[in-house]
Amino acid sequence: MSHTSTLPGAPHLHYQNQELMLEGVSLNSLAKEHGTPLFVYSKASMLEALSHYKRGFEGRNARVHYAMKANSSLAILQLFASEGCGFDIVSLGELERALRAGGKAQDVIFSGVGKTRSEIKAALEHGILCFNVESAPELEVINEVALSLGKKAPISVRVNPNVDAKTHPYISTGLKGNKFGVAHEETLNLYAHAHQLAGIYIVGIDCHIGSQITTMEPYIDALNKVLDLVEQIESQLGIELHHIDFGGGLGINYHGETPPMADDLWKRLWSVIDARGFGNRLFMVEPGRSLVGNAGVCLSEIQYLKPGEQKNFCIIDAAMNDLPRPAMYEAYHAIVPLQKSVGAQANSVVYDVVGPVCESGDWIGRDRELSVLQGDLLAVLSTGAYCMSMSSNYNTRGRPPEVLVDQGQSHLIRQRESLEDQLRLESLIPTTP
Ligand SMILES: *Cc1c(COP(=O)(O)O)cnc(C)c1O
Repeated sequence: MSHTSTLPGAPHLHYQNQELMLEGVSLNSLAKEHGTPLFVYSKASMLEALSHYKRGFEGRNARVHYAMKANSSLAILQLFASEGCGFDIVSLGELERALRAGGKAQDVIFSGVGKTRSEIKAALEHGILCFNVESAPELEVINEVALSLGKKAPISVRVNPNVDAKTHPYISTGLKGNKFGVAHEETLNLYAHAHQLAGIYIVGIDCHIGSQITTMEPYIDALNKVLDLVEQIESQLGIELHHIDFGGGLGINYHGETPPMADDLWKRLWSVIDARGFGNRLFMVEPGRSLVGNAGVCLSEIQYLKPGEQKNFCIIDAAMNDLPRPAMYEAYHAIVPLQKSVGAQANSVVYDVVGPVCESGDWIGRDRELSVLQGDLLAVLSTGAYCMSMSSNYNTRGRPPEVLVDQGQSHLIRQRESLEDQLRLESLIPTTP
């Protein structure tokens, strides 16, 4: 019996003697050693995902800037920094993380619609590569802050190309109704204005149309629109754009999706780029999910099986605070047992897999057929991106630890958050004696 179809997208995850292994490490033994819930990441999977981009960029003037909000744990950043990646950040905290993990400020792009003055100032002092400007008022503030420091701020304008990435509304960013980017029609005016500002120098153009994109068409549409703009900016305004940043957004296989590989996507994009005469331009990408999403699993223990009239519930010790994507976007994560032989003694039952948090939104998987017993361990798959980095302490639950496996070795890269860690910043008010 082949199990590959039940393990979407995780290249180094497989059953060996009925036991689920990640890169040659028994997930059962990691759960025993570190407890549950527990995140485990495969280094080989991340390197493999990156290699698709590297292959797609071979012989080209192109760079990967890892969108670190997908997973910003230091050891993950360290891995991408050591592979020569820059970073795409959305806060000053992320810049500090990138620097502490071995990243260089001059390889950092700063995205996001709400950059504060103090973040802009710190980023300028560190000497980042580029601010991706998302509005006219933000451009003014960057100019003012740069002038006050006696510097010129390097900027790109993030253009909203008004293309439908055909993804969930919460992760679609390139349509007119989104808060992101500058409307296509206003972009030329904003470049003309930016060109007049003494605290600004223009280095590029940027777009990012959404996330979990599984077809090439939205990218090709966006590329053509961006290249149209580049032509207009250069010919009408006489501004030369040093780079074109094409954002992130490439999807992964959560549940049978078949997104293009980064190298196949870029083969197609380069053909458009070459045909339009931009083949020598510096291109940059900001992938997040596609580099880390399928590299991670979250291990969890079944606390209770609760049969019901309409639904059977499988209550596990991971919850929406650890795995927020189902609650936020009704996202799908595959859920599989760590040990198949244990499940063989149980009946196959359709469960809603839920956490212990006091919210009806606290579900991890709906209508999943599982042969499991109380106390069994499960793996929630494709949890390398937008899980730990989105986790919270809701219900005073400490965040799980994280382990990175690397060719049979395992490294604890984050300890379990203790109650003391959680309470450290709080205090009681004085009481009258
Ligand atoms: C989130 C984000 C990315 C990364 O998106 P993925 O779908 O994870 O690849 C890239 N660029 C910007 C500006 C983002 O906000």
